[in-house]
Amino acid sequence: MSILVQKFGGTSVASVGHIERVARRILKARSEGHGVVVVVSAMGDMTDRLDDLAREVDYIKPESRRELDVLLSTGEQVTIALLSMVLMKMGCKARSYTGGQVRILTDSAYSRARIQEIDTTKLRADIEAGTVAVVAGFQGVDNEGDITTFGRGGSDTTAVALAAVLKADECQIFTDVEGVFTTDPRVVEGARCLEKITYEEMLELASLGSGVLHSRAVEFASKYEVPLRVLSSFEHLPGTLITNEDMDMEQPIISGIAFTRDEAKLTVLGVQDVPGIASRILGPISDANIEVDMIVQNVGADMSTDFTFTVSRDDYDETLQILKIVSDDIDAREVSGDNKIAKLSIVGVGMRSHAGVASKMFQVLAEESINILMISTSEIKISVVIAEKYLELAARALHSAFDLANDNGKLA
Ligand code: ADP
Ligand code: ASP
Ligand code: MG
Repeated sequence: MSILVQKFGGTSVASVGHIERVARRILKARSEGHGVVVVVSAMGDMTDRLDDLAREVDYIKPESRRELDVLLSTGEQVTIALLSMVLMKMGCKARSYTGGQVRILTDSAYSRARIQEIDTTKLRADIEAGTVAVVAGFQGVDNEGDITTFGRGGSDTTAVALAAVLKADECQIFTDVEGVFTTDPRVVEGARCLEKITYEEMLELASLGSGVLHSRAVEFASKYEVPLRVLSSFEHLPGTLITNEDMDMEQPIISGIAFTRDEAKLTVLGVQDVPGIASRILGPISDANIEVDMIVQNVGADMSTDFTFTVSRDDYDETLQILKIVSDDIDAREVSGDNKIAKLSIVGVGMRSHAGVASKMFQVLAEESINILMISTSEIKISVVIAEKYLELAARALHSAFDLANDNGKLA
């Protein structure tokens, strides 16, 4: 029997009415002869509300991380129970499972746990018996039996991981937009829904801030070649297929634009330009488990240098405190920071074979008088850091300059 894993995000299960609609969608897939395993998120903005409660108590302390995961994982538990009850009311056999009940085994990195193993026994038995297994997204258990979560947006990863171990025919991510667009359709009006995109491009877009898919989910899908589709839970449309590069198709130069406001920039000014300085600055940051994203070092005329890097905005205050101590230790002149920045990236596999993409991007930003604070590139992406207030303007200008609303993506 063909197996589908269907995942429904928070907006799609925001009320009992929404859950009933989701249940009808599941029944339709079953009536077409598929074995269906379902993954759901917490209802609406439930996870945000739970997170707010924890912030009220000040969970930022590392020793609270275990408890935070216990708290955040409860949102999904509500949805699995309600959806299973609705399915049963509609005459369909259904059974709810938390991550621990399935036994989705993870490491113990609370709030960013990685899946190590999944026991498929119960899920396979359910598929055999014609029962819909309804699994809580975004959570697992570690070896101690402690609850862990995968980071915000992590229900996608549950779905793809289940699809991989069950060798499902397709993993369908139902959400509140029609599919993967050239950029966030809530920000750029002319954004276009893509019919197909490669795993490689989707992975870049997801890790550079396109919230539509959790980047770990795309990683899994690519590694285990899970056919992955993003589609609307409100309309019956084909959505976007994420798949391997199709050699026959001419690749657009730019496939999409991703951006994130979740960044902050810190600079240590007037650092001696001698070997070992970068590690003396970044060592204490990594010891504090703070992830660094972009790094830029400039050498000034007097052989002193300015050292700039970005971290997640949530880590800004802690990083600034650490840097002040480091800066005294290494005799730097001063430390400055800016947490009102944003990172914007253009992504496309076609970039590999085309020069001139970066210069066009910089020219478009210059025409809008947008100052570029940092740049980083890889084979298939160019990222810039700019002031947050220009983010939407920059996204629109680039979307239009690269003609992404139309299906050609040519360098004009
Ligand atoms: P869910 O709750 O279903 O997981 P998310 O909010 O996580 O939904 O993801 C869907 C949202 O992702 C959309 O509402 C959209 O605003 C945003 N988004 C950002 N970039 C893109 C993109 N390139 N294509 C589609 N949606 C995007
Ligand atoms: N409920 C979690 C979140 O809001 C996981 C998810 O929805 O993917 O981040
Ligand atoms: Mg999501």
